[in-house]
Amino acid sequence: EKYKSGMEKTRSSFSGKINNLIARYRKVDEDFFEELEEALITADVGVMTVMDLIDELKTEVKRRNIKDTAELKDVISEKLVEIYYGEDDEKIESLNLQDEGLTVILVVGVNGVGKTTSIGKLAHQMKEEGKEVVLAAGDTFRAGAIEQLEVWGERAGVGVIKHKEGSDPAAVIYDGIQAAKSRKADVLICDTAGRLQNKVNLMNELEKVRRVIEREVPGAPHETLLVLDATTGQNALSQAKTFGQAANVTGIILTKLDGTAKGGIVLAIRHEMHIPVKYVGLGEKMEDLQPFDAEGFVYGLFA
Ligand code: GDP
Repeated sequence: EKYKSGMEKTRSSFSGKINNLIARYRKVDEDFFEELEEALITADVGVMTVMDLIDELKTEVKRRNIKDTAELKDVISEKLVEIYYGEDDEKIESLNLQDEGLTVILVVGVNGVGKTTSIGKLAHQMKEEGKEVVLAAGDTFRAGAIEQLEVWGERAGVGVIKHKEGSDPAAVIYDGIQAAKSRKADVLICDTAGRLQNKVNLMNELEKVRRVIEREVPGAPHETLLVLDATTGQNALSQAKTFGQAANVTGIILTKLDGTAKGGIVLAIRHEMHIPVKYVGLGEKMEDLQPFDAEGFVYGLFA
């Protein structure tokens, strides 16, 4: 329900374009494919992903001897889902949570993408599921970041471990881990700084934080979630490339999907980066975070 209305912009724009194309062309020909290609790129699907998709579609059209564009509609959905999952068999997009002991989730991303908000939403959701959650305010760099996380912590009813602004993030995370352990918490969610102006420093800092987590909790971090803003389109893809390589990202939280008609970025991230989108942000409120469901997403685009 919520998912559908949150995605309304993406959905109506996308299905509008494709349906319009199908109505105008009727016959599957080179011009049709050219316009389809353009429509997909406009929807932020990403050039490489679109090329692969069009190739697949052309092969399928030949194989099944499809002449009518209306017949092609289902094939497009099918192929979009296939393109999304690629070779991966694992279709479950849920978080890797430990049945026993502490699960540590590291959250990374550039300032302004919705990192703090997403952490708050995630904490709320887990708390609702009966889990004991602790937040660690590891973004000691951005002015106001610690206070903002505290506000979310209060809203969600979970504890926040913090130091002063400007202090060593690794030390905050260390304290977060000790607090989570002594409270016998189920989940520790670690915020991190997101300045990209000094990429080398940022990556070194993340590396240090990761080492502390690895040392204190064997097998952790269990998830490293990269937060991306869907409205930034191809910029989000390049951030995924930067962080994906340096920070060992295991999943994406794609925010602000309610405010954009360009949801195609979901497909590009998965197809080109092989990183699953685990959650999507569909608004500014605490409840506006949904687990991502690729098939629901793709078929929703054509509903
Ligand atoms: P951070 O700098 O990455 O921690 O970003 P914030 O969490 O402070 O979020 C930046 C802005 O984006 C805030 O105004 C949020 O309310 C807004 N925001 C975050 N997630 C979403 C979302 O899913 N949808 C919408 N519409 N706004 C969002």
